[in-house]
Amino acid sequence: MDLETKALLLSVGSVQLAGPQEEGRPSTAGPSAGGQSIFFQSGSRLVRLSVVESSPLHLISLGQGVALIKDALEVARGRLVKPLLHCPDQAYITVSERCIFDCKFCAVPKLMGGIKTGETVLRMVEEAAQTGQLRAISLTSGVEVSPQAEARKVAGIVRDLKRFDVPVGVSISPFPGVNQLLKDAGADEVKYNLECVDPEIFSRVCPGISYQEIMDALEEAVGIFGRNRVFTNIIIGLGESDDLLRRSIDELTGMGVIPVLRAVFAHPLRQGEVQMDRPSAQRLLELARYLKKALEKNGLDGGEALTGCYRCTGCDLAPGVDL
Ligand code: SF4
Repeated sequence: MDLETKALLLSVGSVQLAGPQEEGRPSTAGPSAGGQSIFFQSGSRLVRLSVVESSPLHLISLGQGVALIKDALEVARGRLVKPLLHCPDQAYITVSERCIFDCKFCAVPKLMGGIKTGETVLRMVEEAAQTGQLRAISLTSGVEVSPQAEARKVAGIVRDLKRFDVPVGVSISPFPGVNQLLKDAGADEVKYNLECVDPEIFSRVCPGISYQEIMDALEEAVGIFGRNRVFTNIIIGLGESDDLLRRSIDELTGMGVIPVLRAVFAHPLRQGEVQMDRPSAQRLLELARYLKKALEKNGLDGGEALTGCYRCTGCDLAPGVDL
């Protein structure tokens, strides 16, 4: 699968399955939580697609492997990859599947899912480690009570997870002091999601959350965790302009932060609450190429990531891996 084909698949973002033999896997993380998805590998590139009955992409089984079909034409041929926990080679675990915040693109607050104890997380990672495939651990979490309480809980879990001797990444809601807390616990990488780079849109789609506090935490994180160890998700398709996206990419990479450019997923539970336009393949390609140049200019490399989405690359065109 070449870069353009991956961009096309990401711009669609979904697939329908031919039969029960190709079952998707449930996701508990982030905006697309609650749905099923598949991981499609072709050559060195991996793409994650949500399973949606009305998708224009169809997955069909071949004698060996599978193919993706659109408008009766084969788009790509490859194989399905079984995730370990959420994604391949990683135990990627959502600790609290609920949130006191109400970001308008995210399904987590609507789903009101479970809260995992430290023991549950440890058991899940232990089982993942027994497969021999565990290369990294990524923890994410909604906010059950407060960002501070969530961070203390996650930090305690990180301490326990260091026994597995693989890198641990953490993505939680930041606040002053979060970086030292996670560093002391033994986290290797952090991700604090800016979500939307347009401050006006941000205030509408992430009510009650401070954009500046996230930026401050990201800036401090680079000093504490180092370069190539700090990430932020930026959603593409909430109505933000490409001009603003490019300026934010420049600002973030200038700070030493690696942005993850993530196509918006219009979750059915959030229909009508906020503008969510899946970006075209062309838009994804142009922004990914801009990001690649900005990373290079600032001496950053997504291919160096130890955990999380740059390690996985299923949902994005990842500079340093895909291009
Ligand atoms: S890129 Fe990130 S969000 Fe997407 S499947 Fe991989 S780990 Fe999950």
